[in-house]
Amino acid sequence: MKKKYSTIVIGGGLAGLISTYLLAKSGHQVLLIEKKAYPFHRVCGEYLSNEVLDFLTRENLLPPDYAFPQVTKFVFSDTTGKSVSTPLDLGGFGISRYVLDEHLFQRVLEKGGEVKSGVQVESVDFDENSQVFHLEVAGGDTYQSDYVIGAFGKRSKLDKVLKRSFIQKRSPYIGVKYHIKTDFDSSSVALHNFDGGYCGLNAIEDGKVNLCYLGDRDQLRAYGSIQALEKEVLWKNPNLRHYFLDSDFLFEKPEVINEVNFERKNPVENHILMAGDSAGLITPLCGNGMAMAIQSGKLAAEAILSGKERAEVEALYETSWNSFFKQRLWLGRTIQRLFGTTKASIFARRLI
Ligand SMILES: Cc1cc2nc3c(=O)[nH]c(=O)nc-3n(C[C@H](O)[C@H](O)[C@H](O)COP(=O)(O)OP(=O)(O)OC[C@H]3O[C@@H](n4cnc5c(N)ncnc54)[C@H](O)[C@@H]3O)c2cc1C
Repeated sequence: MKKKYSTIVIGGGLAGLISTYLLAKSGHQVLLIEKKAYPFHRVCGEYLSNEVLDFLTRENLLPPDYAFPQVTKFVFSDTTGKSVSTPLDLGGFGISRYVLDEHLFQRVLEKGGEVKSGVQVESVDFDENSQVFHLEVAGGDTYQSDYVIGAFGKRSKLDKVLKRSFIQKRSPYIGVKYHIKTDFDSSSVALHNFDGGYCGLNAIEDGKVNLCYLGDRDQLRAYGSIQALEKEVLWKNPNLRHYFLDSDFLFEKPEVINEVNFERKNPVENHILMAGDSAGLITPLCGNGMAMAIQSGKLAAEAILSGKERAEVEALYETSWNSFFKQRLWLGRTIQRLFGTTKASIFARRLI
């Protein structure tokens, strides 16, 4: 007989790690299944909004051995390179996902959470009669649980398996990330526009800077390679040309993802509590997808720990998710239109 868990969390990014940590801390029988092995890099700007700082500090969830650059200023340039800067009310700090996710993973283990990393979930089914979830992973092993938290990110094989509607729509965006060493004001987060997208820079730990951009899939196809796209399109903004020409690039090759999709999703589907990007990805220019993943992982864990009946747990989670995030996601989609074209980015610069 396979062991049955109270909750299985699928995907160990921020949403999955936080929910697993909180459930394990409360003595809940929880299993986290993550398809990659920690630690690893992922495409992300790695600017973390201070809205979750109190929670992370209180729970001792920030790695103690690093000084993380505090960000208090926003710098914006339009596609021509003209820039403007403004103070950030709330601010944030830079921290790489390589360091943060690894630390959270260790904290989960310390609290007694069980983790299977390097294991991909292939299918998840809810049996209405027994009220039990059945999961199958690559290699054929199966697992059972009372609850499932879906924290499998912006796009997963499981979205197809679950026939989620957003997966039918193609997305025009790609995401590319580097770590670099360069001359950069570590108290600022910068957003530099180029034709078809925008590129963010902010300092992270150890004097490194994250350079991450959202680009256009069709332009990539037209220019044939990431390097050609950067040279022909991003470098037209003189700020970006400077960073690409005058920095040390620390990765052998960039981290790249396709099909970055900002379509609407649902926070509960097939009785699965969707957390983080699985419930909806906010446009990166808002700079709080990581904070939202942390908060929604916390909400999902709290809903399960409420000990209510399944229908009430689902309703509780859906209501709190909607009140925290629904409007933000809409706003993100709306202001995304002010970026990535010359006219709109000049308008946005003047507005700022
Ligand atoms: C270009 C770009 C820049 C961004 N910059 C920022 C920024 O500066 N600040 C910010 O706050 N947010 C930013 N974001 C958003 C932020 O990265 C995400 O919102 C955040 O990572 C979401 O975390 P998550 O836990 O939901 O998903 P993820 O961190 O993506 O984790 C999902 C995990 O699920 C695993 N998984 C998937 N399928 C399976 C499966 N079948 N079985 C097992 N495991 C599976 C994956 O391996 C992955 O580890 C950016 C996003 C993009 C695209």
